[in-house]
Amino acid sequence: MHWTFGENKAKQSQLPPARVRGLKVAYDMHPIRAVIELLFDIAGMRLYDSHIKIVLVGTMRSIMQIKLSFLGAAQNVTGSQFLLQANGKRLLVDCGLYQERHLKARNWEPFQVDPKDIDAVLLTHAHLDHCGLLPKLVKEGFKGKIYCTAATSEIAQIILLDSAKLQEEDAEFKRKRHEREGRKGPYPVIPLYTITDAEACFPHFTPIEYEQSVKLDEGIEATFYDAGHVLGSSIIKVKINKNGQQRSILFTGDMGRPDRPIVRDPTSCEEADYLLIESTYGDRVHQKRKDTKEEIAEVINSTKKAGGNIIVPSFALERSQEVLYYINELLLEDAIPHIMVFLDSPMASRITKVFKRHSELFDKETSALIRKHESPFDFSGLKMVESTRESKAINHIKGTIMVIAGSGMCTGGRVKHHLVQNITRPQCSIMFVGYQAEGTLGRQIVSGQEKVRILGQEYPVKARVVQVNGFSAHADKDELLHWLMGFKKPPKRLFIVHGEPQSAQHFAELVGQETGWKASVPAYQDEITLD
Ligand SMILES: [Zn+2]
Repeated sequence: MHWTFGENKAKQSQLPPARVRGLKVAYDMHPIRAVIELLFDIAGMRLYDSHIKIVLVGTMRSIMQIKLSFLGAAQNVTGSQFLLQANGKRLLVDCGLYQERHLKARNWEPFQVDPKDIDAVLLTHAHLDHCGLLPKLVKEGFKGKIYCTAATSEIAQIILLDSAKLQEEDAEFKRKRHEREGRKGPYPVIPLYTITDAEACFPHFTPIEYEQSVKLDEGIEATFYDAGHVLGSSIIKVKINKNGQQRSILFTGDMGRPDRPIVRDPTSCEEADYLLIESTYGDRVHQKRKDTKEEIAEVINSTKKAGGNIIVPSFALERSQEVLYYINELLLEDAIPHIMVFLDSPMASRITKVFKRHSELFDKETSALIRKHESPFDFSGLKMVESTRESKAINHIKGTIMVIAGSGMCTGGRVKHHLVQNITRPQCSIMFVGYQAEGTLGRQIVSGQEKVRILGQEYPVKARVVQVNGFSAHADKDELLHWLMGFKKPPKRLFIVHGEPQSAQHFAELVGQETGWKASVPAYQDEITLD
């Protein structure tokens, strides 16, 4: 008989009825507690020897095994969640929100493992698709610590509050709309979590320093390294002592790129027994940074000439600060005219303040700017918009303006209102500066759809649509491969995650051709035993 802990109820119900009292206990409980209860049973009762042996051997084997489950970002790019089970402990690496329209229902499904039975969360970075289900996890009983860098902790709290607010607003908006239209949507019209739920998870955040190991339990430790993706982002290495032998599992999280503004380059790593690497751009090569700046200048100059506005759907984290950084540079170089730039995202403004607090994490170029007493995020003409009233007033301004607003994939937030005002005007430009996941409004616009539905109404897309790819905070296939080449010996197993199927598969094949390493592309809910 073979079985493991934490498997689904269906499997448990297929088991024969327990003839030993301890057997039932062992299926449902934490492995170590199950062993103790069984030993008590053995001592106090006469039981069927063979069954006891099976249960004990199964229990011990299960405790000694290292198991890895792919519970999100497996053949898709959001909902990052990996479960690592070892030495009787359960660790969750990331707990992200699903953002692809066709996968959003997964946000409402119960967690694969009861949150009460998860011992700790290791958080790679503060993007919503990596941290966005933490309030739900805590609401449903998670009691442990959420380990991450201080910058990630501060930014994640801002992002989670905003997400909760959006969840509440969206639910209310949908409820009213459905009521008006007399119909029912596919998801419940209640928020996934509330602002109170988000706040309840803040005390769990436990900041740690880069490159300083943290002991999670006897024989289990984790070390965070700078991933160069967004401020505070991490590559996480978990070391597990298994029967006196060390095993290491490395999670890249989202991998940054060399030579990007503000953040440092990704840390190179030399070894790991098991490696999970992201593949968002596993089948593409990015533009060069110089081209990116030129392209932005071109969009600003030509839209100014046409007399339209420039709408920039942008993530509040990193991308907004990068756009400001580039505009500042272009203004200093006299490459663009002085136009009014509105950062219409209170969240982006708050995150910019975290950036200013954590300048110790900046790269050399940005640190040098600060030493010269020049802020990379301020210039004349820049306005931070706070209230909704101010936000609505922006579109009445005559002359060309630029509005940077969230959300980055147009799935919610103030950008939707700005799109409504500008998307039907040919003299305007919609400038995308980030990845647009399948099933999002952003993807519909960027892929050239002629009409799109925004806030319940259909609009023809007449504005110029530009995708500036060079902004990406994700390594492209060459950069990912180059990072892998830093390994001194091949990992025992390499898993390609966080990529749409085509991208992940392409990268797996590329790795095979270039290194001879065997890489696999796990599917959602795959569970793998690491020897
Ligand atoms: Zn990310």
